[in-house]
Amino acid sequence: MARKTALVTGASRGIGAAIADRLASDGYFVVGTATSPVGAERISQALGVSGVGVELRLDDPESVQSLMQRIGDAADSPQILVNNAGITKDNLMLRMGEAEWTDVVNTNLNGLYRVTKLVLRGMVKSRWGRIVNLGSVVARMGNAGQSNYVASKAAVEGFSRALALEVASRNITVNTVAPGFIGTDMTAELTDAQTASMLERIPLGRMGEATEVASAVSYLVGDEAGYITAQTIHINGGMFAA
Ligand code: NAP
Repeated sequence: MARKTALVTGASRGIGAAIADRLASDGYFVVGTATSPVGAERISQALGVSGVGVELRLDDPESVQSLMQRIGDAADSPQILVNNAGITKDNLMLRMGEAEWTDVVNTNLNGLYRVTKLVLRGMVKSRWGRIVNLGSVVARMGNAGQSNYVASKAAVEGFSRALALEVASRNITVNTVAPGFIGTDMTAELTDAQTASMLERIPLGRMGEATEVASAVSYLVGDEAGYITAQTIHINGGMFAA
């Protein structure tokens, strides 16, 4: 049987890189995205014969529209989509500029809509698909200084549930994976005081690893998870019991 193609957005670093690596080891052909040609080339090199890197900017509708042209003959239409890429632009509400709000919502939510719509048609045609969206623990907990990011991640969860119901009859599952505090560039931006206060709130007493998120994604996209849809899997060391 031909290898299934898995599209992983934001595969150049952090959680996305770990997911791309894991899905390649699982035997899928992985298309990983980065925002720059250099990042895309690095993904190609890291994946070797198991995948390819391509450029993608989620905040640019034209970049999403032309994604399939850039993939070209390198891969089949993705049957697995991991909407991983996301950004933060933290600020207190009274100081939050229009651009900080719009950039985060445009990348994390509008971009996810654009990519999902693009690949969904192929999944519907083949009557099989797996979509995993990256949410966040803060979508349920809230987090001061992140109203833009929290709004986008809560919306991702709602979107996932609604889409799951819409496409279930086509044998396509849609789930959210909601990480807590994972060691990546995104959390490296936090101050020492913010990191210490986060760690105090985690019963397991440590940050999570990107590979621990990747293993949940690996499970959800596999055949064994075929009866799981419209759910959120929390990976947060016990920080929040949803
Ligand atoms: P990260 O290390 O900051 O990496 C972000 C990834 O997204 C990079 O591959 C980046 O590409 C890509 N990206 C950024 N802006 C983009 C855009 N406009 N269009 C397309 N791609 C873009 O992030 P991470 O910590 O691994 O987080 C991955 C996902 O998990 C995100 O959705 C995040 O919200 C979620 N999450 C993370 C944590 C955590 O503790 N780290 C917790 C909860 C949820 P370039 O390398 O080209 O910039």
